[in-house]
Amino acid sequence: MPDARTHDIITIASAVVLAPLTQIAQVSALGIGPFDAWPNSAWLVIAHVISGVMFSPDLDLDSAIDNRWGIFFWIWRPYMWVVPHRSFWSHSLIFSPLLRMAYFYVVSLGIILGANWLLSQVGIVMPDYSRQLSRTISQVTADYPNASLAFVIGFCTGSAAHSIADWLVTSGKHILRSVGLQIKRDYRHHDRHMPRQRRASR
Ligand SMILES: [Zn+2]
Repeated sequence: MPDARTHDIITIASAVVLAPLTQIAQVSALGIGPFDAWPNSAWLVIAHVISGVMFSPDLDLDSAIDNRWGIFFWIWRPYMWVVPHRSFWSHSLIFSPLLRMAYFYVVSLGIILGANWLLSQVGIVMPDYSRQLSRTISQVTADYPNASLAFVIGFCTGSAAHSIADWLVTSGKHILRSVGLQIKRDYRHHDRHMPRQRRASR
């Protein structure tokens, strides 16, 4: 429940810490050579940042995050309506980022199929981009399994950094206190959502 800006800072700071840790873990624990390891580290960090900034767990409420999608903010409306705020569906450590990833994939396919259908109504026949997208994804994951896995792990850690921060400022305050950090602000009702129209008129 820290605000979007604080979450962004947490995302970037945790990415900076994760980069060397990922590299060290691959080289020392998995025995991967440093030059083979760094693309995986890079993908993990990129996915971590994308997940934290664009695919944030707070897409489950009308917030600063869906504004980042610009004219495509509506992509997340059905997700927002269905997924209860700060629930297991949006804020769990592994399941929720994978759900958002799957949701985005399905919606992208839907948009492509919808656009193809609309164009076909006016006599324009487009290549089957939806099948091409699916084929490209399975090809990339087959050709680059380690980098793909690193991307998925980074996508999960980016979301987890958010969920853990939310938890620390609410239920986990005592942990922060034990390391000398005091949270003075009451975050319990911090994420009251503000409807889009009201935000726009401010
Ligand atoms: Zn949150």
